[in-house]
Amino acid sequence: MTRAAWAEISTTALRHNLQRVRKAAPHSRIVSIIKANGYGHGSVRVARALADSDAFGVASIDEALELRAAGIKPPVLLLEGIFEANEVTIAQRENFLITVHHDAQIEMLESSGLKRPNAAHVWVKLDTGMHRLGYPPGKFSSAVRRLQSCDAVAPDFVVSSHLARADDRGSDATQNQIALFEQTVSGLNRPRSLANSAGVLAWPATHFEWVRPGIMLYGISPFVDSVGTDEGLQPVMTVKSKLIAVNHVSRGDSVGYGATWQCPEDMPVGVVAFGYGDGYPRHAPSGTPVLVNGIRVPMIGRVSMDMITVDLRTQPGARVGDFVTLWGDGLPVEEVARAAQTIGYELVCNIKPRVRIVET
Ligand SMILES: *Cc1c(COP(=O)(O)O)cnc(C)c1O
Repeated sequence: MTRAAWAEISTTALRHNLQRVRKAAPHSRIVSIIKANGYGHGSVRVARALADSDAFGVASIDEALELRAAGIKPPVLLLEGIFEANEVTIAQRENFLITVHHDAQIEMLESSGLKRPNAAHVWVKLDTGMHRLGYPPGKFSSAVRRLQSCDAVAPDFVVSSHLARADDRGSDATQNQIALFEQTVSGLNRPRSLANSAGVLAWPATHFEWVRPGIMLYGISPFVDSVGTDEGLQPVMTVKSKLIAVNHVSRGDSVGYGATWQCPEDMPVGVVAFGYGDGYPRHAPSGTPVLVNGIRVPMIGRVSMDMITVDLRTQPGARVGDFVTLWGDGLPVEEVARAAQTIGYELVCNIKPRVRIVET
């Protein structure tokens, strides 16, 4: 028997979630964000399931080329743009859309030798308050003028920016970002892109011509106060394992490394073949929920590399071989993430290669 640690990826749920984007932002085109191996779900698998996206978004040209090698045809947006001069011609040839957020990238375009009509397509990025990537408002129009006069750049550019606090529905930071974005780009009359998943769901004024949803495609809520199903989404990744031992541990005895959990009474303790070496968060504390045969039980003790232990007092009939769900259908990843003081994004990204992927 092989070790039972697998992740089921529902392509039906992926398609449902893309429809949810279309319903929320019916007048926008969609860049489905599939960076970091499709948030751990497999970028090629996700791109195939979401083939009617208008474009895909990734972090680097390597991620984009992986899609082309698999026969994925739509345009691919490079969210951080190019890193080296030799990427310009590859991007132009492959129809990758280059984010331009810094003068060093304009210089690479200018010295590329490309000429219209065989020019590169770019998305020029404005910093409206995130202070990560993008031109500050005072330098934006000169960057745009420089791109417009560069023969290597196609005239059909898009203007973009990124939201810092859209997951907080009550924050006026987003209103301010929208206002600054509109004000700075209004004279250009070019297609605009501002919304991530939180923008798609909570801030219609951010939709503009292109939206860039990521996490919601995977069925995960971008908000701290909800889970995906509350937002009309379906979980895509369900992580499963099995009980590989059931032990009867005496009152006062401890379980696992560091003896962080002591049995308050004689009790059954289940051992699950899934640990931080599979991508379970090592900092998940005792009490983090786990499903055994579809019923919630608390994780107890420290997370090991290959295993976790669970309290089976409410499941005295549980046996070796019984099914365990770590997160996904029936147990929102957001809940597990909150218990471990992180976010669902990180948990799904962290699934390790030894976890078998089963498409459902
Ligand atoms: C990752 C990313 C997104 C998607 O964000 P989600 O919160 O996952 O929807 C959108 N735009 C940019 C620039 C990104 O880097």
